Amino acid sequence: MAEEKGEKYEFQSEVKQLLDILVYSLYKNKEVFLRELVSNAADALNKMQFEFLTVPDLEGKDQELKVTIEIDKKRGILVVEDNGVGMSRDELVKNIGTIAHSGTLDYLKRLQEGEKGGAVDLIGKFGVGFYSSFMVAREIRILTRSWQKGAGAWRWTSTGESSYTIEAAEKEGRGTRIELLLKKDEKEYLEAFRLRGIILTHSKFVPFPIYLDQERIERRDAVWTQPRSKLADKDYVEFYKFLENSQEEPETWLHLQSDAPVQFHALLYVPKTSFELLGLMKEEPGVDLYSRKVLIQKGSKEVMPEYLRFVKGVIDSEEIPLNISRETFQSNVRVEKIRKHVVRKLLEHLEALKEKERGKYLAVWKNFARNLKEGTVNDFENREKLSQLLLFQSSRTAGDERIDLKQYAGRMAEGQKEIYYLGGSDRGAIERNPALEIFRKKEQEVLFLTDPLDEFVVDHLREFDGKPFKMAESADIPLEEKAGDEEAHREAGDLVTYLKATYGDQVEDVRVSKRLVDSPCILLNPADGPSLQMEKIIRMVNKDYPLAKRVLEINPGHPLIRRMTALHKADPAAPLLKALALQLLDNMKLREGILGDTEATIARIQEIMLQAGERGTE
Ligand code: ADP
Ligand code: MG
Repeated sequence: MAEEKGEKYEFQSEVKQLLDILVYSLYKNKEVFLRELVSNAADALNKMQFEFLTVPDLEGKDQELKVTIEIDKKRGILVVEDNGVGMSRDELVKNIGTIAHSGTLDYLKRLQEGEKGGAVDLIGKFGVGFYSSFMVAREIRILTRSWQKGAGAWRWTSTGESSYTIEAAEKEGRGTRIELLLKKDEKEYLEAFRLRGIILTHSKFVPFPIYLDQERIERRDAVWTQPRSKLADKDYVEFYKFLENSQEEPETWLHLQSDAPVQFHALLYVPKTSFELLGLMKEEPGVDLYSRKVLIQKGSKEVMPEYLRFVKGVIDSEEIPLNISRETFQSNVRVEKIRKHVVRKLLEHLEALKEKERGKYLAVWKNFARNLKEGTVNDFENREKLSQLLLFQSSRTAGDERIDLKQYAGRMAEGQKEIYYLGGSDRGAIERNPALEIFRKKEQEVLFLTDPLDEFVVDHLREFDGKPFKMAESADIPLEEKAGDEEAHREAGDLVTYLKATYGDQVEDVRVSKRLVDSPCILLNPADGPSLQMEKIIRMVNKDYPLAKRVLEINPGHPLIRRMTALHKADPAAPLLKALALQLLDNMKLREGILGDTEATIARIQEIMLQAGERGTE
C-alpha cells in the first residue's frame, strides 16, 4: 500500500475522470497497458539516443539503450524499466499528474458513452497511455532519475484513486522503473509466455531491444528501410498498428524509396478514422522524421503541409543532419525537397486510388475531404493535382454517388463552356432551387455544393481544365430567348414596371425570366457578386455585413404571374395586386432565409387568405 510519507498531490480532475473510466471499465483488451508502458520506455530511449548524438561528452554513451521487463511472482509485481531520459520531480508532476492533450478528455467522454453502447474499442484505437496500467494494477510505483547532470532520483506512488505521493529515493543511473502491483485477478501478467505474446503482438517494431527476464525478444527492423519486394501487406498493416498504438487497419499506404535528388525512405498511411470528424481535437502532424533510423522529430511540421495532418508515418533521410535545430529546419533545402517530392507522390497515389479503387477513395474522401479542400485553397503548388481529387454531388448523381471534375468536363453539353454549380445546405434544398429548372431543361449538369467550404474552393480554383466555374444562380448567364411567348412577355413587361416601383430599393432589378419553367419567380445573384451562401457565412462573423441586392425574375408563363398581369391590366391600384406583389418577394426571401419582418408578412398572408376564403364562399 502507498506509504504515508513523501509529499501528497491530488491528480488533476481530468486524470481522476480518466482513472475512473479505466478502473471500472469493462474493457476486455486490458493487455494494451503493456504496449503503452513499452511505448513510453521507447520514447524515453529515443530522446536519450538523440541527446547522445547531439550533446558532446555525455557519460554512459556505451551503455546499451534497452527496455527490461522483470517478473516477481512471489510479490505479484511486474516491472518495466528503461535507461532512457528519466524524469525530474517537476516532470513527474507535470507528465504523470496531468493530461497534456486537451483532446484526450473529449474522447474519454466518448469512451464513457461508448461503454454503454459497447464501442469501448476507442481505447484500442487511440491508446490512453500510462494510466491504462491501472486497469491491471492496484498500485503503481515509479522510480525515476533524469539524465541531466546532478539530478536526484524520485519515487512516485499511487493506488489510482485521487492522489499520488512523491518522495526522494535512491536509484542507480538514469531512466525509469515502473512497478505494477497487480490486482488479484490480473495475475496472468506474471506469466512470461503471456507477456511475450503481448509484446510480439503490439511492440514488435520498437526500435530498442526488449528483455524479458533477461531473454531478448526478437524484433522487426525498421520497416521503411526494407525493400518493398520483401514486404507483404500484413507487414505494412502491422507496422501501422504499432505506430498508431491502434488496433485499426489503415485505409491505404504508400512506401517510397528514393536515392536522387535526395536520399530518403518514406512510409505514409491514410487512416480509416478521422479524429476531427469524430469531433475530437484538431489533429497534430502525424509524420515522424528520422535520420538513419534515429528519431529526430515526432510529428514533424516541416515534412508535410498542414492540410495533410491526417497522414501518419515515417520519413527517414540520411541527408538530414542530426543536430538540426527547429529554426534551421524550415529553411533546410533537403527537408524542403523531400517534402515536395513526398507530397506530390502522395497526391498522385490518392488520384490513382480514385481511378482504380473508387470504394477506398470514397472512404478517404468521406474522412478527409475537408483537408483536401483546405489544400486546394492553400497549396498553390499542388492546386492542379488537388483539384483532380475533389468530388461533388450533382444534378445527375443519385444517392451517395460523387463525380470528379474530369468526369463533369467530359460530359458537358455541346456548346457549354462553363462549369455550373449551385450551393445549398443539402441536396434537397438545392434541388428545390428554381435556378435549376433551365439547366434541367437544357440537360446541363450542375454541381451541388453542399459544404460551405466548396464555394471557397471553386472561388479559388476559378476554372478547371480551362473551363470557368459559374454559379447557376448568376443573373448574367446568357440564355436564348424563349420562342412563341412574345405576347406573354410583352404583357408581363407592364407588371415588371409595376413591381419595380413597388419594391423600390429592396431589389437590384426586376426582369422577365428566360430560365424559369415551373416556378413563378426567382431571386438571383447579381453578376459575379458573392453567393448568398457565402454572404451568410460572412454574416456569422460580421452581423452587419450587408447582403447584396438581388435580381427578381418572373416567369410570364406561370399561372400566378398571368393572374397578376391580368389584375394589373384591370386595375393597377388594386390592393390585392400590391399584397400579392409584396408577398411574391417575401416568399423568395423566406426560401433563402433572409426574411426580416415576419410579422408584416404573416399579417399580409392572412389578408390574402381572407380574400381567398371570401371568394371560395361567394
Ligand atoms: P504520452 O505517451 O501520449 O505522452 P502517457 O500517458 O503514456 O502519454 O505518458 C505521459 C508522459 O509521461 C509522457 O509523455 C512522458 O513525458 C512521461 N513518461 C511516461 N513514461 C515515461 C518513461 N518511461 N520515461 C520518461 N518519461 C515517461
Ligand atoms: Mg505513452
